[in-house]
Amino acid sequence: MPDTAPSETAFKRVLLKISGEALMGDQGYGLHPPTVERIAKEVKSVHDLGVEICMVIGGGNIFRGLQGSAQGMERTTADYMGMLATVMNALAVQSALEKTGVYCRVITAIRMDEVAEPYIRRRAVRHLEKKRVCIFAAGTGNPYFTTDTAATLRANEMACEAIFKGTKVDGVYDKDPVKHEDAKRFETVTYDEVLAKHLGVMDASAIALARDNNLPIIVFSLDEPGGFRAILDGTGTYTKVHS
Ligand code: UDP
Repeated sequence: MPDTAPSETAFKRVLLKISGEALMGDQGYGLHPPTVERIAKEVKSVHDLGVEICMVIGGGNIFRGLQGSAQGMERTTADYMGMLATVMNALAVQSALEKTGVYCRVITAIRMDEVAEPYIRRRAVRHLEKKRVCIFAAGTGNPYFTTDTAATLRANEMACEAIFKGTKVDGVYDKDPVKHEDAKRFETVTYDEVLAKHLGVMDASAIALARDNNLPIIVFSLDEPGGFRAILDGTGTYTKVHS
């Protein structure tokens, strides 16, 4: 693999959080391979800048614990199923990323050694230093959490400078921009405002963990081609959540 030029961006190490639904395209369920490949290319374009990249991918396109428990399943078991769903998504993205020539490791919070590496912090840091993308899967390994919290936890542990939260829209709005034409995008917003106004950036425990560790969250559109790279280049549109 060719050496990449040193990063000229403000960021040396970031964590990209995407929901499982970002991988399903218009299908309404599961994995849509062309969409997975498109996201892999977005990640590669930032990797090409020399930025070290962690990823956390949700599992909502396959299974959510809350859904299972609403249907009568025992909650903890349903949450483990949700965590396993995130591993499937991580493996799909790993495969697509490696097809683009970017080396990648899936690292799970629940041991499954035949499938992926277990989470060992210092080993993951070494992978990042070697410019391998680390995809952290199986959430935090604990039920009753979400992958948003897992993303915040891992971003702190890996000393990422920010979480990049890829969504369908290019930032945080005062109301749903899909339903309201006059919705206004915030350039910046504080963690406390996100919590008090229920702005829905990430769940409350994830926001609180980011706030307590002063970890900025950058909300941007993953549907916008080149959107991730544009922010690193200093030209993109986004909302920054900070203290
Ligand atoms: N999950 C969990 N603990 C974690 C992370 C995830 O139990 O630390 C389970 C939970 O059931 C959740 C599911 O995995 O519903 C999928 O994750 P999430 O809902 O965060 O996925 P996303 O909405 O981002 O696709």
